[in-house]
Amino acid sequence: MTSRLVIFGPPGAGKGTQAERLAAHLSIPTISTGELFRGHMREGTELGHLAASYISRGELVPDSVTVDMLKDRLQDPDTSRGFLLDGFPRNTAQVELLDELLGDKRLDGVIELAVDEEAIVERLLKRGELEGRSDDTEDVIRERLRVYSEQTAPVAALYKERGLLTTVDGMGEIDEVTQRLIAAVDAQ
Ligand code: AMP
Repeated sequence: MTSRLVIFGPPGAGKGTQAERLAAHLSIPTISTGELFRGHMREGTELGHLAASYISRGELVPDSVTVDMLKDRLQDPDTSRGFLLDGFPRNTAQVELLDELLGDKRLDGVIELAVDEEAIVERLLKRGELEGRSDDTEDVIRERLRVYSEQTAPVAALYKERGLLTTVDGMGEIDEVTQRLIAAVDAQ
């Protein structure tokens, strides 16, 4: 079976961790645009330098740059049985760009991870301390949450209209949340 899925939710919802677990269950790769950018930043590529200037401010990297990077990644052979996208699409324009990229290969589902705002800021500040991510400081977190509610949240409504959206409670123990996600995907 092919599974072309998106995991969706605010920064700090635990998307990255849960995406890895869900993708392992489904035997498909996760594709995180944030991780792809961080890889470029670590390697010091031109794309990495460009992305860093947006990421360090909590802003979105321009769509054209992000989509070109994703297009390349979707051509890798490991995506032939599907993929779990994490962090894309992040605005309504990217929803359409993804439709174009996929063509006949439509998405099978979009899973929204729902969490309280309070929990988010706490989780992100903790991650900033643990992982040293430069965009996990309080000011940048605030900007990322603002960008999320302004640009990314409307993406859920679009997928809901298409009957693709399932919302999963993202609060609680990591294992519990993973089980909920697996149940939601298996039920789709
Ligand atoms: P993430 O790892 O998903 O939290 O992403 C970290 C940062 O990378 C975001 O705050 C954005 O600056 C950038 N980014 C990740 N995905 C996208 C995307 N789909 N479009 C634009 N910028 C993105």
